[in-house]
Amino acid sequence: MRPSFHPRLTNDPFSDPGLYIPFLFEKRALLFDLGELRGLSPRDMLKVTHVFVTHTHMDHFIGFDTLLRLFLGRDKELHVFGPEGFFRQVEGKLAGYTWNLVHEYQTDLTLKVTEILPDRTLTRTYICKDRFKPRENQVEELYTGILLREPSFLVEAEWLDHRVPCLGLSITEDFYININKQELEELGLPVGPWLTQFKKALYEERDPKSDFLVTCKKEGIATKERKFILGELARKIATVSPGQKITYITDIAGTPENFEKAIRLAKHSDHLFIEAAFLDRDRDAARKKFHLTAKEAGNLARLAGVKQYTLFHFSPRYNHMVQDIEQEAGDAFQNRPVGQTPS
Ligand SMILES: [Zn+2]
Ligand SMILES: [Zn+2]
Repeated sequence: MRPSFHPRLTNDPFSDPGLYIPFLFEKRALLFDLGELRGLSPRDMLKVTHVFVTHTHMDHFIGFDTLLRLFLGRDKELHVFGPEGFFRQVEGKLAGYTWNLVHEYQTDLTLKVTEILPDRTLTRTYICKDRFKPRENQVEELYTGILLREPSFLVEAEWLDHRVPCLGLSITEDFYININKQELEELGLPVGPWLTQFKKALYEERDPKSDFLVTCKKEGIATKERKFILGELARKIATVSPGQKITYITDIAGTPENFEKAIRLAKHSDHLFIEAAFLDRDRDAARKKFHLTAKEAGNLARLAGVKQYTLFHFSPRYNHMVQDIEQEAGDAFQNRPVGQTPS
């Protein structure tokens, strides 16, 4: 089975963090955090539709300019979410540049910025041609922990403590649709963009008795159309399995309250991306800076029952000690006493 999301960190574990989540077969991606984006090509970045910023410490927000620079002059809409005070932060960045020429652009970029408050979200729209002045009508919605709901997945957040509120983030796919290539061939159907429409119809739970039109294209030109009953076609070519869950947790203090909330958010994730800023021997420094140790990261991954985890956001003091960090987290994940790994 091929998963729909292929998450990867935007760079090495010592650099300013971010998680890039592209979708299989779609020119689309999400970003958790806006650290240093140099690990992403412009093509990767242009797929991003929604960005979720955990908190606005510089190492998690410096990539905003990189993304904006690339999107500028394109017909695009970019949605950016962040915690309380986010409008001020975004508007501060936008105010740092001169926008006297943008009204002459042929294209238009729309920024939709959502500030997340404990009980509600506020969304403001900024249009490039208006020199990114905020539109007057601000949209207010109730916030219950879900930041984005689409037919096939949802993005949830949990408030964690990093001396400032910091968001833990999870993306959960409702279910996964796998296409059986052999059955496709037997039906004489080519792989093509119609498959995205087909999956969309299933995610949206369209009436299985309804018609579904398969349009075959060659070099972008429609060559043939064939009509199927949606449910019958699904029975022949699709297998439905449980969806993936990916969780991203960074910049949190190792307190019992944070642990409880982070474990709840990360519960049964297929892949947990978790900070491991310090080694256990430097736990006093970790406490002071409101970060996790590798041991705590491993414990958290074990208690949440995740299938796989990736550590990141290492303190530069461990430049040549990646193995020690991995070892310590691995011991905690396996519930072995630290330093007693069989070699
Ligand atoms: Zn921070
Ligand atoms: Zn940080």
